[in-house]
Amino acid sequence: MATGYIWNTLYGWVDTGTGSLASANLAARLQPIGHHLAHPDTKRRFHELVCASGQIDHLTTIKAKPARDKDILRVHTAEHLANMQRVSALATGGDTGDGITTMGNGGLEIAMLSAGGAIELVKQVVSREVSNGYALVNPPGHHAPRAGAMGFCIFNNTSVAAAYAREELGLDRVAIVDWDVHHGNGTQDIWWNDPSVLTISLHQHLCFPANSGFTDEHGEGEGLGYNLNIPLPPGGGNAAYTYAFEKVVLPALRAYQPQLIIVGSGFDASMMDPLARMMVTASGFRQMARQIIDCAEEVCEGRIAFVQEGGYSPHYLPFCGQAVIEELTGVRTLADPYGEFLGGMGGDTLLDAERARVDAAAVLLDALR
Ligand SMILES: [Zn+2]
Repeated sequence: MATGYIWNTLYGWVDTGTGSLASANLAARLQPIGHHLAHPDTKRRFHELVCASGQIDHLTTIKAKPARDKDILRVHTAEHLANMQRVSALATGGDTGDGITTMGNGGLEIAMLSAGGAIELVKQVVSREVSNGYALVNPPGHHAPRAGAMGFCIFNNTSVAAAYAREELGLDRVAIVDWDVHHGNGTQDIWWNDPSVLTISLHQHLCFPANSGFTDEHGEGEGLGYNLNIPLPPGGGNAAYTYAFEKVVLPALRAYQPQLIIVGSGFDASMMDPLARMMVTASGFRQMARQIIDCAEEVCEGRIAFVQEGGYSPHYLPFCGQAVIEELTGVRTLADPYGEFLGGMGGDTLLDAERARVDAAAVLLDALR
């Protein structure tokens, strides 16, 4: 069966402004720059590599449709949506609330298309029009909590899609596995009290957001036990992530038995990323993809949808993403040109501190069994 793929030209038109991270500010001597850290070129280059490598010929392209207000309102407050409508209508856009998340004029249209892209892929994966797929959407989503935008994220795309799967496709159990290097705090917030969506986040410990993503943040009420955080020490690479998958992520999925797995696929755990300090290579992302695709075969007849999150290396993200898509299609069209260079820098050895932190997170599995 086919692998679905979503990209839209407008995903490459996200206007992140002229700052590096915070807005350019003359008084603070923050000089304007043409390439914001979250500039959409990084993701456009991923899409172009998918095309230039010939991988696109092995994919079934799916057209993203804009999410409807009611799709957004399943997981976000009406105040948040109204605020995004307001900022989007400003002549030059503006900050959406946290000081680093700029929305350009008309940016709401792109944010709706990003959430809608996640919905469309999930819809086709669940209905078996495609067997699995990758939605290369932008802006990302996992930092956006119920009541706001945050960390370059306007709407929580994976959660919007999971809520759609619950309410419109009739699924009882969905799992969101977030391997973006930053904590999926927004996704955690949205499903905190809800056992119908299992949320698992692997991230660099104490990176972003501040003081977020500890192992003891475990859900509450009915949702107690259905939010798993696996914070890894800085410097973790392929070995740490693979161990976390074997020890926690895959056993959690086997215990929970979701009917659909959504992967929050960020590539900022890569060795070349400027916004974190981890050491995963394209080969590590390939291995994680293989592990979770195989697990989906085992627990939910292969129903798995990858949805793009962060990743800020325009140099390396395309090759990490390409490796994941190759595992979905089963067709290799490219070797990692940096593989030998980066492979010699460590990251393939599991350190004691990494093992200890993963083992500490593994106790959370007891609540799922
Ligand atoms: Zn991130």
